[in-house]
Amino acid sequence: MDPIWTPWRMEYIMGQKQPGCAFCDKLSGELDEAEHVLLRGQAAFITLNRYPYTNGHLLIVPYLHTPSLEHLPVETLTEMMLLVNRGIAALRLAMRPQGFNIGVNLGKAAGAGIEDHVHMHVVPRWYGDTSFMSTISSTRTLPETLDQSYQRLRNALDALNDQGAEYRTQQSEVLY
Ligand SMILES: [Zn+2]
Repeated sequence: MDPIWTPWRMEYIMGQKQPGCAFCDKLSGELDEAEHVLLRGQAAFITLNRYPYTNGHLLIVPYLHTPSLEHLPVETLTEMMLLVNRGIAALRLAMRPQGFNIGVNLGKAAGAGIEDHVHMHVVPRWYGDTSFMSTISSTRTLPETLDQSYQRLRNALDALNDQGAEYRTQQSEVLY
C-alpha cells in the first residue's frame, strides 16, 4: 500500500491558481523562505500569516483557489487537518505555546482577509498575551520578526521529520 505519486494531479490543481491572489502567488515563486512557506503537502501547504495575531500564526491553505471549505475534495480537507496537526506539533516544539486558537473565517462579514481563497488559522497562545478578539483590532506587539519565526519553525519541522513519521502517515496508511 504505497502512496501513489500523481504529478498530473498536482498540475491540474495548480492550473486553477488565480494570478493576483496572495496565496496562489506565494506558490509561483521558488523561494519558499522568502514567501514564508513552511511545508508543501500534496493538496495544501503551511505558511506564516503575513499579518499575525501572535508570533507563529500559521495558515493552512489548499492549492485549490476556492472561497469555501465545501468546495474542497475530501482528500484536501483531510490533508488540511493533518497539516493543522503538524503545525501544532511544530509550534509546541519551537515556541512552547500554552494554548491554540484554530479556525476559519468564511466571507468578509466573518473577518476573512483573503476571502476568495479559503484558509485555516492556527494561532498559538500564551497566558498574558492579548485576547484573541482584541488582537485583531488593536496594535500588536510582536517580539519576533517573521523571518525569525520562520527559521524556528523550519527547524522544528525538520526535527519532526528526523523523528520518523511523515505528517501524512501519522494517523492513516494512505490518503490517495
Ligand atoms: Zn488563490
